[in-house]
Amino acid sequence: MAADIVDFREFCENPELVDNLDHRIIRDVRLPDESELYVCFTFDDGPTEYTPLLLDLFKQYDAKATFFVVGEFVDEFPDITRRIVEEGHEIGNHTYFHPNLSTITNDEVDKEIITTEEAIITHAKTRSQLFRAPYGVFRMETLERVEEMGYRLALWSRDMYVRDWEYPGADAIFDRVLENMKNGSIVLLHDGGGEREQTVEAVKRLFPILLNEGYQFVTVSELIEISEQKNAGKMKI
Ligand SMILES: [Zn+2]
Repeated sequence: MAADIVDFREFCENPELVDNLDHRIIRDVRLPDESELYVCFTFDDGPTEYTPLLLDLFKQYDAKATFFVVGEFVDEFPDITRRIVEEGHEIGNHTYFHPNLSTITNDEVDKEIITTEEAIITHAKTRSQLFRAPYGVFRMETLERVEEMGYRLALWSRDMYVRDWEYPGADAIFDRVLENMKNGSIVLLHDGGGEREQTVEAVKRLFPILLNEGYQFVTVSELIEISEQKNAGKMKI
């Protein structure tokens, strides 16, 4: 693998590597011990028919999440995209066709991002502040480029690579999230890319437990803001 390519999946398997990652890449957001408890659920690869099921749950608990949407599905499901925003959640850009960015040209990367943003603006009348690379794979120059375009590159907490796409069962998804939960966790789950009943069921079971523990469900941008405030303007990631 070329040295300038980041494959965050490798970092998830090898925690000791994470300290070497560029600090601008959002992944583990640490909050002071005395802080209130916050968690950020992120859902990638939608919107799909599973997204409204998650939106219903989050509405029931007055909770917020971040949805990293794929442009082609934003165009296919404009009403769901709009609903995500109308209900106070955050939308992040996750490319148009979900390619591995290390295998396409810089111009193609630009096009993936721009066409997705156009779809989001058209259908949801907002623009996203965050970009998440498919599979967590990208060239370092893409980090520079997305920052020029006005995004922060947001991944997930290393130990919250839940792998719900393996269909391990709702119990396993539930366990993987709960076992690793800590203040400021960014959880990676999926509302697209396959059948997501297990994911929806796991989230449904997690809600009462995490709320009982005192967790507040916030978006990635809210979590970053809270972290910056609590750490007196100094980002500790
Ligand atoms: Zn994805």
